[in-house]
Amino acid sequence: MSVNLSSASTILCIDDDSDILKLLGKLLSGAGYTIISAVDGKQGLIEARSRKPGLILLDITMPRMDGYEVCRRLKDEDATKDIPIIFITAKNEDEDEAKGLKMGAVDYIRKPFYPPIVKSRIRTQMDLKLKTDMLERLVAIDGLTNIYNRRKFDETLELEWKRAVRSKRPLSLIMSDVDHFKGYNDHYGHAAGDDCLRRVSRGLKDMLQRPADLLARYGGEEFAVILPETDYNGAIYIAATLINGIGELNISYPHSPVAGYVTISIGVATAITGNNGGTPLQLIEAADSMLYAAKENGRNQFQGKKI
Ligand code: GH3
Ligand code: MG
Ligand code: MG
Repeated sequence: MSVNLSSASTILCIDDDSDILKLLGKLLSGAGYTIISAVDGKQGLIEARSRKPGLILLDITMPRMDGYEVCRRLKDEDATKDIPIIFITAKNEDEDEAKGLKMGAVDYIRKPFYPPIVKSRIRTQMDLKLKTDMLERLVAIDGLTNIYNRRKFDETLELEWKRAVRSKRPLSLIMSDVDHFKGYNDHYGHAAGDDCLRRVSRGLKDMLQRPADLLARYGGEEFAVILPETDYNGAIYIAATLINGIGELNISYPHSPVAGYVTISIGVATAITGNNGGTPLQLIEAADSMLYAAKENGRNQFQGKKI
């Protein structure tokens, strides 16, 4: 799972009039944007989902599916709901404009249009979208390691918990913690410690395969992984993979009481949410207590349980 960032400089034009598409294409590619064209609503929706443009220019009067309906569907889907929409239309009534804006469009341009004005209004929206995307990234990403932060973790766990309850599918959580990291810092210094955390987080990220898995920095040298639709056996398989993989990074730590290299310990918890009325907090507490058990039992290993 990644931050749902748009391809910031891409604009999707949806219009059944190929002359308008050509005109917009020329106008906007001249301004440095990448243009995708779609000749009807159906194709437009497909392009919006797959290309995640920074802006959509949408005609209203089109055969089969009109622009209002396209707009409604875009606003209905998680993947496309945050893409700004500008209606560009020959519909000239104030009520049409009011309707378009009420549906969530950021602007409304009437045909025939004066190209320099269109260009300026589009630039304003594109700049705004870029800033919004940057802010969204800043609130979700940890500055040191570039993976998701605690805020994103909390938000995602809530969401995945609800989803798991609805679907009656298992949800697993991994809590990992670098072993004897205080000693690493004391010996190599804080800057080397920071570098080690970056390498560990990058390593963990590379080892996780499924797009739905979410890796986050939970605290100082603690990393959490949310594993949706993953049962206990799946989760402990991943835990073993992560422990081996971090070992194989072979980050030198000769003074480690565990091994000659940096190691991690892991607590695993799996919730069969259909079985009880538990909470995400209970899943965190279970994974935490298993992490503690792994530490007690000698580190560089995992312990786990089902709740
Ligand atoms: P254990 O095996 O029981 O986990 O031992 P530990 O030494 O890793 O545990 P402890 O909680 O005592 O120490 C964690 C250390 O992690 C202390 C702290 O200075 C270090 N740390 C936390 N965040 C950062 C960070 O962002 N950068 C660096 N360099 N060190 C950090
Ligand atoms: Mg530690
Ligand atoms: Mg710790």
